[in-house]
Amino acid sequence: MSDTFLHTSIEYLKGVGPDRGQALKEELGIRTFKDLLEHYPFRYVDRTKVWTIAEVLQAEEQEVQLVVQLKDVQEVSGKGKRLVAVASDGRHQLELIWFKGLQWISKRLHREQRYVIFGKPSRFLNRLNFVHPEIEALPPGVQFKGKGLQPVYSTTEKLSNKGLASAGIARLTAELISHSQLSVPEHLPAHWRAQYDWPELQLALQQIHHPSSQELLHLSRERLKFDEFFFLQLHMLRQKIQVQRAYKGWIFEKVGERFHQFYQEALPFDLTEAQKRVMREIRADMGSGKQMNRLLQGDVGSGKTVIALMSMLLAADNGHQACLMAPTEILATQHYHSLRELLDPLNLPIRLLTGSTKTAERKEIHEALQNGSLPFLVGTHALLEETVQFKSLGLAVIDEQHRFGVAQRARLWKKNETPPHVLVMTATPIPRTLAMSVHGDLDVSVIDELPPGRKPIQTVYKSERRRLEVIGFLKKEIAKGRQVYIVYPLIEESSKLDYKNLMEGFDHVQQMFPRPDYEVAIVHGRMKPEEKDMEMQRFASGICQILVATTVIEVGVNVPNASVMLIESAERFGLSQLHQLRGRVGRGAEQSYCILMSGEKLSKEAKARIDTMVRTQDGFEIAEEDLRLRGPGDLLGTQQSGQLALKLGSLIYDGPIVQLAREKALALLQHDPDLQKFPEIIQAFKERYGTKVNWGRIS
Ligand code: ADP
Ligand code: MG
Repeated sequence: MSDTFLHTSIEYLKGVGPDRGQALKEELGIRTFKDLLEHYPFRYVDRTKVWTIAEVLQAEEQEVQLVVQLKDVQEVSGKGKRLVAVASDGRHQLELIWFKGLQWISKRLHREQRYVIFGKPSRFLNRLNFVHPEIEALPPGVQFKGKGLQPVYSTTEKLSNKGLASAGIARLTAELISHSQLSVPEHLPAHWRAQYDWPELQLALQQIHHPSSQELLHLSRERLKFDEFFFLQLHMLRQKIQVQRAYKGWIFEKVGERFHQFYQEALPFDLTEAQKRVMREIRADMGSGKQMNRLLQGDVGSGKTVIALMSMLLAADNGHQACLMAPTEILATQHYHSLRELLDPLNLPIRLLTGSTKTAERKEIHEALQNGSLPFLVGTHALLEETVQFKSLGLAVIDEQHRFGVAQRARLWKKNETPPHVLVMTATPIPRTLAMSVHGDLDVSVIDELPPGRKPIQTVYKSERRRLEVIGFLKKEIAKGRQVYIVYPLIEESSKLDYKNLMEGFDHVQQMFPRPDYEVAIVHGRMKPEEKDMEMQRFASGICQILVATTVIEVGVNVPNASVMLIESAERFGLSQLHQLRGRVGRGAEQSYCILMSGEKLSKEAKARIDTMVRTQDGFEIAEEDLRLRGPGDLLGTQQSGQLALKLGSLIYDGPIVQLAREKALALLQHDPDLQKFPEIIQAFKERYGTKVNWGRIS
């Protein structure tokens, strides 16, 4: 749409002028004809159907239009005057009522004249009442065929005062779309459009403002949504191609000794089919000569750790080092222990580097990394410090990526001339449509299968009144040798009230579970790392039966003997948090339980969250529900969702179109990476994204 007509200043449109033009700019950011063309209606009033009174009486309450003849008009006085008119559709009668503007309206009402009325009637004793209906005289002899679908536009008070309420804007869009000079170039290939019956761009734009039928409106909206998602996908995929062209990746062609040895001798179980598939995908990436940028999604407990380890072994087999970075000290430590255990039979060194690593040890690690004698490193953000230099970093595994910013990942990257392969692991399932739109430049692998033998976790909701019963249940489980988590909300680490509740909760738990029969541990964000570690150890080793904690245990903590997760004030947690917390249990062979507790009163959203948790354990289903409840803005943070800037499309409802757009964009770029045969698409792409490219290399 580079046409000069479309870039004409809005004030030159018939019916605008300088004053309204200025207001349109200020209030809605509409500067040009094109801007107005893209100011889409947000809904339509269906005035296709002309109702009879009998039909309205049968149907649900809704806005309707009828043709009626006026039989009688009366001003009724009393407490506040009103105007009451009786009208007939030939078979039945109804009443029209006005409380305001009586003089103005009564001048326009004439007995025996026909009118089109529109509004939402109320029913009273099988009679219809329209209060302040829209009303319009119908000339004699004219057969009324309805007003079709009428667009409703967002507007502002200031614009409404200048005659640009929704109807006023509709007049402007009607003027624009029927203008003789309007010419919007098409950019999609004709055979794509033919495949889905999509109208040409110009027709689609005309139809979305003033539709001639529901069907054509539907197809037009679909086509325009496709455009949005398609260019978004093109944008991300092009960046990915640019990165791949600019940076070669290490080629890990060997599946060597260590990998084989591990697989044959050390791996304590058979991989699930999903794990095998993901491993194949990773190996293909690592052998391709391009840098791997892969997102590994797998629900809690799906077995991502061993995938990370085997990928790290591939790096080692090919003469490179590998690191694994986790967002918290507890998590890094746990990863370190589980990797070391798995590596034990192979006799390969691995070290842990965190903020609390002592200077002497730190030096040792730095040296071993630089001279290449240390193949594997696990750690927190401490890995990102300048002083940490690898001899040759071949693979960086990043756990729970949403806690690492783009800038931090970029720093990790800079540690090599040739960039390391990057494997991002997350247990927070991202709904597919969102993943495709936000992480469109990452390849995605999914472990969609849990290791065999897991029993589903039983999830129940209990209100405060049932506390004693719950405590009795915990005691029974502990008597069987199980361990229990009790989690309190400490959403803001700084919240004094939450902290107080946590401490009171801790006291209460200690009273209900007294020594010497019970030992209770506690971890929270205000503790020093050493203290936290010590308490975690007391719980992990089984000395303590109960761990009172905040969400610091949300990610990664693995104590297979813990089989009960009790979440206090469950209504205060988000869905994905609840799901993560529940994932801490159900890791061993025993039946596990998740108990959600709250006060009696729950908001609608809180209830929806709790119901979802009780209903399903499927992380992807939960993520979809979370998206529905919170919207993409909340899930992504405003910055990322602003980046999406969708006018029509919805990440919640338009999954299939997102998918289609992704497939089309991929296929197109595979055959013609620079779009040499598609100058129209390039042109339209530039219109949307200008020269904005290169958004940082990894994310
Ligand atoms: P997550 O994906 O949450 O990081 P983990 O890697 O911690 O999951 O694995 C959870 C548990 O399942 C661990 O105890 C791990 O040893 C075990 N596990 C992983 N894969 C398998 C498998 N294929 N068969 C049996 N157990 C497995
Ligand atoms: Mg894990």
